[in-house]
Amino acid sequence: MAVIFDPNCIFCKIGRKELSADILFENDAYVVFKDIQPKAPVHLLVATKNHISSIMEIQEKDKELIGGLILLAKKIAQDQGIAASGFKLVFNVGRGGGQVIDHLHLHLLGGWAVPAQKKVEV
Ligand code: AMP
Ligand code: ZN
Repeated sequence: MAVIFDPNCIFCKIGRKELSADILFENDAYVVFKDIQPKAPVHLLVATKNHISSIMEIQEKDKELIGGLILLAKKIAQDQGIAASGFKLVFNVGRGGGQVIDHLHLHLLGGWAVPAQKKVEV
């Protein structure tokens, strides 16, 4: 199925290779890349290729897509070697929730040496 994209969205542009990013994984549905301003030793963004503006826009039909996004985040955490020590998965939702890019993405954060550093704000 064709990807739904917004030509003005920077994460759509990353998914379409119109904007460069440090991409670790991609397939037809998802793209995983390094956050440009990392808040943890490992800070990755797991994004859908389809332009969905936020968690507030997801519908019943997106269940599988969202499940796949979380499963992919788990797999990437394992591949990055941060699964055993633990990690955070964060969706910021809306401006009040700290969301600045209106394209669905899950923050994957981990790799801290000192537990106290886990108090991050993304
Ligand atoms: P949020 O606040 O949840 O919308 O998260 C957006 C995240 O995207 C922030 O952590 C930014 O540092 C990150 N970001 C913004 N522009 C880029 C970019 N061009 N490449 C990678 N990460 C980006
Ligand atoms: Zn987008």
